[in-house]
Amino acid sequence: MQEDGPARHGHDHGHDHGHEHGHGHGAACGTCTDMLARAERLCRERDLQFTRLRRDVLETVAAAHGPLGAYDIAERLSLPGRRVAAVSVYRALDFLTELGLVHRIASRNAFVSCAHEHGVGEGLVFLICRSCGSIDETTAPEVEAGLHRALARAGFRPASRILEVEGECGACRGRAQGDTGLAS
Ligand SMILES: [Zn+2]
Ligand SMILES: [Zn+2]
Repeated sequence: MQEDGPARHGHDHGHDHGHEHGHGHGAACGTCTDMLARAERLCRERDLQFTRLRRDVLETVAAAHGPLGAYDIAERLSLPGRRVAAVSVYRALDFLTELGLVHRIASRNAFVSCAHEHGVGEGLVFLICRSCGSIDETTAPEVEAGLHRALARAGFRPASRILEVEGECGACRGRAQGDTGLAS
């Protein structure tokens, strides 16, 4: 995976590290180190416990290339003779989601870490590639404005405004076009 051609929009969740490092890896990864520092700061500010499990779960999600389900995470954190229960992982994920450190991708029932510091209630658009499984995250103020009007008309107050769009990412489209010699 390399970052050439038209740059993918804005931010990725660290799927482009080119390596997947699990728990206890030697070389520190910038994304994970930043994520952990931010988590520690947020917890300190709010007087919340950044427990070992919460840290382990965040580290696992941040180190993954793509979205991870709670059972995958539990699997990765389990050691012989010491299983981590998925229900505990779910609780840790809820906690991390509330802090904005991870997002739940509803259509995949899976989680990705988030390196941005969102404003509370900021609407998000996830771009989910069906070919390579990558998930990019962006915001669309135009959509937000329209959605806001539609919700106001309906008298509906949203608890979250997360849109998920499935399709083919720029990198995969580029590869497909390269194969057929088409350009657009
Ligand atoms: Zn985010
Ligand atoms: Zn793709």
